Amino acid sequence: MSDRILIFDTTLRDGEQSPGASMNLEEKVRMARQIDALGVDVIEAGFPMASEDDFQAVRAVAKEVRRPIIAALARTTPEDVERACRAIEDAARPRLHTFIATSDIHLQHKLRKTRDEALAMAIAAVRQARGYTADVEFSAEDATRSDVDYLCRVVEAVIEAGATTVNIPDTVGYTIPSEFNRLIATLRQRVKGIDRVVVSVHCHNDLGLAVANSLAAVEAGARQVECTVNGIGERAGNASLEELVMALYVRRDALPFTTGVVTTEIHKSSQLLSNITGMMVQPNKAVVGRNAFAHEAGIHQDGVLKERRTYEIMTPESVGIPTNRLVLGKHSGRHALGKKLAELGYKLTRPELDKVYSRFIEIADQKKEIFDEDLIAIAHEGMKEIPETYRLKVLQATAGSQKPSTATVTLQKAGADMVACAVGDGPVAATYNAIDLITNFRGRLVDYAIRSVSRGRDAMGEVFVHVDFGGRTFTGKAASTDVVDASAMAYLHAVNKALHLSHTLEAAVGREVAAPVPAVSEGPVATRLDAPGRTETPARRETAAGSQRRAVPAEDGLSGGVKGAGSDNIRLIRLV
Ligand SMILES: [Zn+2]
Repeated sequence: MSDRILIFDTTLRDGEQSPGASMNLEEKVRMARQIDALGVDVIEAGFPMASEDDFQAVRAVAKEVRRPIIAALARTTPEDVERACRAIEDAARPRLHTFIATSDIHLQHKLRKTRDEALAMAIAAVRQARGYTADVEFSAEDATRSDVDYLCRVVEAVIEAGATTVNIPDTVGYTIPSEFNRLIATLRQRVKGIDRVVVSVHCHNDLGLAVANSLAAVEAGARQVECTVNGIGERAGNASLEELVMALYVRRDALPFTTGVVTTEIHKSSQLLSNITGMMVQPNKAVVGRNAFAHEAGIHQDGVLKERRTYEIMTPESVGIPTNRLVLGKHSGRHALGKKLAELGYKLTRPELDKVYSRFIEIADQKKEIFDEDLIAIAHEGMKEIPETYRLKVLQATAGSQKPSTATVTLQKAGADMVACAVGDGPVAATYNAIDLITNFRGRLVDYAIRSVSRGRDAMGEVFVHVDFGGRTFTGKAASTDVVDASAMAYLHAVNKALHLSHTLEAAVGREVAAPVPAVSEGPVATRLDAPGRTETPARRETAAGSQRRAVPAEDGLSGGVKGAGSDNIRLIRLV
């Protein structure tokens, strides 16, 4: 029996299904490239039947990422299987992955099918898939709560029908290691033909046992494990790729198995995923958490200084945590920046590098030391693929215990300056209200997160937002040494994304009122003091309900108005 464990990464499918982890096509392709660099064997790119976006994303990944197997998920219906096969038709190594539930609770309540009907559907789907590709995986959803005799029957039948990988998912994270080990052993003993196929497992983490269960299955003969970067996924997530891989690596004495994963790419993959989705890793998360290699207690520090192995079972370098952290300053040139970014894994085009460089100089002016983390944050901004319809020019906001806060925002659109002033419960809320006044594009802030990118008082703050425009959520992110600035830019990033996709948002976009600059009184523009606010807890998390985002009726006569800032180009923005 081979001692090689196949790593099946489902970050882009199961992982992407987790709340707050949605990615657009470009983001999925970028993540897929990194997962490829990580050396996984299979990338499950999506569920093409779920939506047109999913279909296109799977297609794009299949075209761009050529080394690993690219899998697409399908239910056992002919339409699903056909759609999924179409999505991977350009893949160098396509895999069709079809599934149906085998537990009575799913059959009776969800599918309303008999065991025999489900069995027939499984066989038909596998046969159909084999017509498109020789690589077919079948999953018995909720296998761990299925009747073992029936599960054996299904597995035997799909192998007979041509499945080449049989996956045994613990869909609801219910099993425990000893039990799961026995289940895999039972299948391997009882199912005819099982030696011809790869036995796979797919464990969820509802009881925190996903990795332990996966390893128990490996010991019983499973040779593929399904997992995600940072363990993201439905509910409590999937088995975490980095934990599985490092457990197999660190304990290779007790677990004599290998994987094809390049462990030094783990940290970068984890960071990229957090950067794309805004889903931060908990600090104490195994392997990739910020504290995973931090030694706080004096006794521990003393031990590590004398001999690292006293308290470290693996080195930070082995998972790719950069040790040479201090890098560039404001006198560094474009070439040095490009070289450093390439070392960090970011190969930028010339226009991207130009954009990143100008942002780098701005940041370097405000901050003495630029760390790798800073550069990565800046690089992500420079690589934003979305046209900057609105660009932040000037922002002034007040903060403090005296509420409300006010913000004056100047945005640029097609060379024209637009200014608005608004109030809010805090500087961020006031800023967002002012931006809404200008864009007339009303977003509902679903999620707001802020974190410090590097260390020290002059550290950059990175802000992630999820904003709902017309029922569709867009993520935005930006980094700056000023957190209100970063908040504004992150929000604008989401606005610009939404505008970019405005064809799908129908008429929700761009009804700004353009008019000649009126004679505006001196001093700050009047705004309603009880103007719609946002619940705000800076530096933690901010959410706002849609109902709080009402516009102030124009007849109040106290609009959050706009005034000239010395340019002919300035246009009047009104509340509607
Ligand atoms: Zn799952």
